[in-house]
Amino acid sequence: MTEPTNTPLQPMPEDWRRALAVVAHPDDLEYGCAAAIAAWTDAGREVAYVLATRGEAGIDTLEPEKCAPLREREQRASAAVVGVSEVEFLDHRDGVIEYGIALRRDIAAAIRRHRPELVITLNHRDTWGGVAWNTPDHVAVGRATLDAAADAGNRWIFPELVEQGLQPWNGVRWVAVAGSASPTHAVDASAGMERAVASLLEHRTYIEALTDEDPRTYARAFLTRTTESAAERFGGHPAVTFEVFAR
Ligand SMILES: [Zn+2]
Repeated sequence: MTEPTNTPLQPMPEDWRRALAVVAHPDDLEYGCAAAIAAWTDAGREVAYVLATRGEAGIDTLEPEKCAPLREREQRASAAVVGVSEVEFLDHRDGVIEYGIALRRDIAAAIRRHRPELVITLNHRDTWGGVAWNTPDHVAVGRATLDAAADAGNRWIFPELVEQGLQPWNGVRWVAVAGSASPTHAVDASAGMERAVASLLEHRTYIEALTDEDPRTYARAFLTRTTESAAERFGGHPAVTFEVFAR
């Protein structure tokens, strides 16, 4: 486990226009960083989402072929709440995403399509801190996203992408990892909090299958707890935290 630290978290870089968030599942962004995304789109920045799967293995009582379209709808609705209209799915298989060339290529292609300066992903490390084990899908997509930020800029790594008209994009300046146990930066969550709760609530079918609690109470409690836990390192403000890898 990373040693507890009181080192202040730095404000996120501000000099960028486009961000691309790449995660494994519907709800990965809503459990972590929707409040930050709301603040960014409020400021006129463009944010797009790419999901490796449709989260089709996420609900025990629902077969994957029925679950996939439902979770896709919920994801598009939750993105819209925080000002994101572009949501793409790479259609890797939920639960068994493989880290490897195919995943790196798909993410590099997405980065070339969207040409972001900032790339967001979810915790790629083995744990959430301590002994809270992460899932293999998050680890695979997080690592592949960190790698693909460089792949996207190299014309010779995936030459087939150039043949498809996707020119190299070497403009990614930061990859920011949400949900890291070793965060370095943060975004004030206050302004985006209500929309973050509403955004997580759009995953209603998933949440109702997960807990007997009232979904709104559950969503608010989760996001309040996580953002307030960062406050003591961010001037007392509830915050969404990121571990930022500069390039
Ligand atoms: Zn997930």
